[in-house]
Amino acid sequence: MELSIRNVQKEFGGFNALHEVSLDIRSGELIALLGPSGSGKTTLLRLIAGLDFPSSGQIFFGEEDASRKSVSERNVGFVFQHYALFRHMTVADNVAFGLKIRPAATRPTRAEIKRRALELLDLVQLSGLAHRYPSQLSGGQRQRVALARALAIEPRVLLLDEPFGALDAQVRRELRRWLREIHDATGHTTVFVTHDQEEALELADRVVVMSQGRIEQVGTADQVYDNPVSPFVYGFIGDSSTLPVRVEQGDVWFEDRSIGLRAPHVPDGEATLYFRPHDVELLDGCGGCIAGTAGVSRRVAGTKRVELAIGGAGHRVEIELPVDHPAATRSRIAFRPRRWKLFPARELAAAPATPLPEPVAA
Ligand code: ADP
Ligand code: MG
Repeated sequence: MELSIRNVQKEFGGFNALHEVSLDIRSGELIALLGPSGSGKTTLLRLIAGLDFPSSGQIFFGEEDASRKSVSERNVGFVFQHYALFRHMTVADNVAFGLKIRPAATRPTRAEIKRRALELLDLVQLSGLAHRYPSQLSGGQRQRVALARALAIEPRVLLLDEPFGALDAQVRRELRRWLREIHDATGHTTVFVTHDQEEALELADRVVVMSQGRIEQVGTADQVYDNPVSPFVYGFIGDSSTLPVRVEQGDVWFEDRSIGLRAPHVPDGEATLYFRPHDVELLDGCGGCIAGTAGVSRRVAGTKRVELAIGGAGHRVEIELPVDHPAATRSRIAFRPRRWKLFPARELAAAPATPLPEPVAA
């Protein structure tokens, strides 16, 4: 089922939780809504579900305007962060619930309902636990039951709101892979809400980055990571370093020197340079580069993160070096960002904080 969200706005008593949100979701796609707490992810998911209605704008399910339809008319399946299993029902009865409550005309026979519940438990790898009660399951198992229950009604769309949010890191990672496999096997159009960038980038076909009720960027993991379109996305996904610079006739300057980057289409004036710590080229000498004094460094997996103090005002940026690189032992390091962007200087103040990660002494 394709979904089309068109200029959707949602107000709560004068507060705009969503501003003019538009998004097309392809049939069979697994899409992640990613953003900090309060950015509007749950609100958007509830509007898609029909648990709430937009203040303006429309939501299409395929060709049909579903904006005013109820949850059951939309036929969506949900899983939420906090297990909403029925405690007094067995696992099998929980999974069968959505089918049992159907009106007689569309309800499958008892035998068929049972067959389908067992088939779904097989899909979520819980076949042996059909007769247990939710209290006899682990958190991860409960969420798998919740997913089987959501799938039982053969939903047109599957909506998941931080479904693994309450589980520990190891279980989360397993369930993430497992969800991707189930998705590939069943092909449901799925919208997955998370504030965890690793989860979004690993799991989703496309990631929708949200901030303050707006969509900042929509793209594949590679697109949002390698080509962030705003200071917010640079700061929210992965690590970024920034430096206040000046553009003069297409050359980028930091304090009194040109740093060897060309920005021919950027008008003269103050700007903020953004780049990724790992995406830098190390240089020996410095005619057109950024040079700084190495400060604290820390080990990040197979690489070394070094904090450099740059220029008279001691601006600090982080860059990443291979652990065995000779520069890692030098006190003066010169580099040039390989991939970088300039944003108007004022956006630095307007953007949510993009602090350097806390350094850890080596
Ligand atoms: P997220 O899921 O990204 O954390 P939400 O969609 O839950 O964010 O909330 C977005 C904003 O809308 C928040 O500022 C939240 O306080 C506000 N909000 C959400 N639901 C309501 C509501 N029913 N009434 C008033 N404000 C709400
Ligand atoms: Mg939420």
